[in-house]
Amino acid sequence: MTAAPVREDAVVEDGEVPPVVDLREVSRSFPGPPAVTALHPVSLRVPRGEYLSIVGPSGSGKSTLLNLLGLLDRPSAGEYWLDGIPTHTVGERQRTALRGGLIGFVFQAFHLLPHRTVLENVLLATMYSGLPREERLHRAYAALQRVGLEHRIGFRPTTLSGGERQRVAVARAVVTAPRLLLADEPTGNLDTVTSGEVLDLFDELHADGLTLLVITHDDAVAARAQRRVRITDGVLREVP
Ligand code: ADP
Ligand code: MG
Repeated sequence: MTAAPVREDAVVEDGEVPPVVDLREVSRSFPGPPAVTALHPVSLRVPRGEYLSIVGPSGSGKSTLLNLLGLLDRPSAGEYWLDGIPTHTVGERQRTALRGGLIGFVFQAFHLLPHRTVLENVLLATMYSGLPREERLHRAYAALQRVGLEHRIGFRPTTLSGGERQRVAVARAVVTAPRLLLADEPTGNLDTVTSGEVLDLFDELHADGLTLLVITHDDAVAARAQRRVRITDGVLREVP
């Protein structure tokens, strides 16, 4: 198998590697009415290469937190340092650029384009890389090889199993060599066997050095991570 792309370029000048995620007293409230504090002030550091899960029931604030981590939403208060960059100080255009350059997303519902082949789905994620098409094709193929689907490149997603579809989504998420992989209920639409395929793949990506943050309501899925954090009513607590 080809090694997953792991970025090496963000070591800061004094030689210290910043955490990939560094939330400092970040909170999120929705004004309402009724006003809701979906996330109470939270501080969370995810060092480079960590595999972290955040587990909590429905309505506990998981998606709110994921949206903040993925730069899809802004905190009401606090600071979010992403790979050493103070994202709370930058404008919308730069946030979009940071999102595309640093973060890979995997969602519960796969979000693959049904009328494109597996290869095209992955290739499209490299569209804004500025790389020549030949190199983009090479990377897309390598990413599909990484998830064990090189024999499926010409297939359409609808002809694949759920586990295979999610592995295509993982290939699409890692083809840009993100600093952070964010997964929101990645096994939510899968049975036990196909969930296992995806979780095994996460283990392999972690072994290759990728930083992973998996959000789930499922304790068995959360237990696969190196470190677990529980979220209840917008409050985070480390699981010993
Ligand atoms: P989870 O993903 O764990 O199910 P959410 O983060 O979606 O939880 O929601 C946490 C709380 O914040 C819930 O009480 C929800 O109703 C509230 N909430 C989420 N998004 C909004 C919003 N845009 N406006 C108002 N309340 C919201
Ligand atoms: Mg949710």
